[in-house]
Amino acid sequence: METEEKSLNFIEQIVEKDLQEGKNNGRIQTRFPPEPNGYLHIGHVKAICMDFGIADKYNGVCNLRFDDTNPVKEDTEYVDSIQHDIAWLGFHWGKIFYASDYFEKLYDLAIRFIREGKAYVDEQTAEQIAEQKGTPTEPGVASPFRDRPIEENLRLFQAMQNGEIEDGKMVLRAKIDMANPNMHFRDPIMYRIITTHPHHRTGRRWNVYPMYDFAHGQSDYFEGVTHSICTLEFVVHRPLYDYFIDQFADSDYRPHQYEFNRLNITYTVMSKRKMLQLVKEGLVAGWDDPRMPTVCGLRRRGYTPEAIRAFINTIGYTKVEGMIDYTWLENAIREDQKEKAPRVCAILDPVKLVLTNYEGEGETLTAENIDGHPELGTREMRFAKELYIERGDFLEEADKNFFRLSPNGREVRLKNAYIIQATGCDKDAQGNVTTVYATYDPTSKSGTEGGNRKTKSTINWVECTTCIDAEARLYDRLFRVENPSAEEGDFRDLLNPDSLHVVNCKVEGALRSEMRDTTYVDGIAQVNHFQFLKQGYFVVDPDTTASHLVFNRTASLKDNWQK
Ligand code: ATP
Ligand code: MG
Repeated sequence: METEEKSLNFIEQIVEKDLQEGKNNGRIQTRFPPEPNGYLHIGHVKAICMDFGIADKYNGVCNLRFDDTNPVKEDTEYVDSIQHDIAWLGFHWGKIFYASDYFEKLYDLAIRFIREGKAYVDEQTAEQIAEQKGTPTEPGVASPFRDRPIEENLRLFQAMQNGEIEDGKMVLRAKIDMANPNMHFRDPIMYRIITTHPHHRTGRRWNVYPMYDFAHGQSDYFEGVTHSICTLEFVVHRPLYDYFIDQFADSDYRPHQYEFNRLNITYTVMSKRKMLQLVKEGLVAGWDDPRMPTVCGLRRRGYTPEAIRAFINTIGYTKVEGMIDYTWLENAIREDQKEKAPRVCAILDPVKLVLTNYEGEGETLTAENIDGHPELGTREMRFAKELYIERGDFLEEADKNFFRLSPNGREVRLKNAYIIQATGCDKDAQGNVTTVYATYDPTSKSGTEGGNRKTKSTINWVECTTCIDAEARLYDRLFRVENPSAEEGDFRDLLNPDSLHVVNCKVEGALRSEMRDTTYVDGIAQVNHFQFLKQGYFVVDPDTTASHLVFNRTASLKDNWQK
């Protein structure tokens, strides 16, 4: 993508204004706060580009903070993958923090709230509490435990932490305002009991865990975050974010929360919970299944960090929710690869072509890696009497609009080679073509004078004895409907049953040597990208072994989803 002057997004405008006004002595500090309960997806990348991007642009720092307040769902596997993916995207964090680093401080803060009459232990069930919440226009109903004496609250909260109370039997609630028009102020839950699962870092040390609202703002404050950027669903939490900090802050410094629109993409889901379900139930091959919108899935599909970042840059940041068409993402990788990916011939649905008048052992032709760019190198292509071509490039009986091979006297060029004319074909009992016969014109070789002769079409081929057998995995959208999350019923019923096609293809022999260059840096395969002529962008899959080559199609050359 060209480096063009882009106008500032609305968060950059806020940051620039804050800098002009000398807020926080010109200090800019952001954080990226994932919960380690799944792998990062492309939605997170939008947040990452914002959080790290602001820090990079304004000489600030962006820390990585794992929001690990729910041991039931969190795991070190996710902590590791998140770091790996951020690094792969090309971003650098300042420090790594964990919300669990603050459990002690938060617990003390909760006790202070109780002492100040700002929190109480509620023994009602989750359902009862929900029923009493009221509606935005009707006030809620106070819990019968709301006015418990402070000493009793202290004793019960201690009992909760001591493991004396069963999960779900008690919660600690902030005592704020059951009539507040902002529902989040109606005595929000601060702490709940979780004894069923050890925490991935603190083990069995805690039996009570803070809720998001009682952890996030405090963590920002403890760390000195200046701009706490998140997505729009947190707008309604912002007053509570400010309220909790105001209760204990001992300086004028305040972190401020700003919100932008989430990324949603058509024909996929953007929720770790749903992705985990697909993985666990084997509906996809894993978090890194090339159909998944995860960072590791996109990487395996052949997306580069540059393409993903260019995509995020194109969609921008606003304050209204919307849906981005999947084709934008594909266009970003096409744009990224079009000048970079070396071209090779691969025949995805091969049929044999015999040149009946070709004499001798065969010959070696030279082809440019990228047409019209001799400076990007050339490769050798073996040519001989027997070749493979695409089945679809031959029709026994063709109408006048079919410009490829047919025994109708029409001339067709074999890419980088000779002009041929089909003469006939063999078929099996079912009528499938098994061999196509043609004659070639020895004076028409590309690169010679005769090579300038024009034909209506050019087709691809590989030579039978030197081509390589490979498996090609061709992908389509993961879901059948544009917005699976908006449909009634189970989202899993909306999966596209034809999202993966595996074909055995024939790839030109020149690829063999380029394959050997696959290297690993920090455990990440430095994958080899190719453009298979006419077929799209492909990448070598990690399932490849010494004897079995596997490719993923990253994207077709053009968008053919519209049909
Ligand atoms: P999910 O619902 O998939 O679990 P989440 O919002 O719960 O997503 P977190 O790990 O809590 O995931 O998110 C870390 C950061 O990434 C948050 O700041 C969140 O706002 C941001 N984020 C998550 N999903 C998106 C998205 N689709 N678009 C933009 N930002 C996102
Ligand atoms: Mg979450």
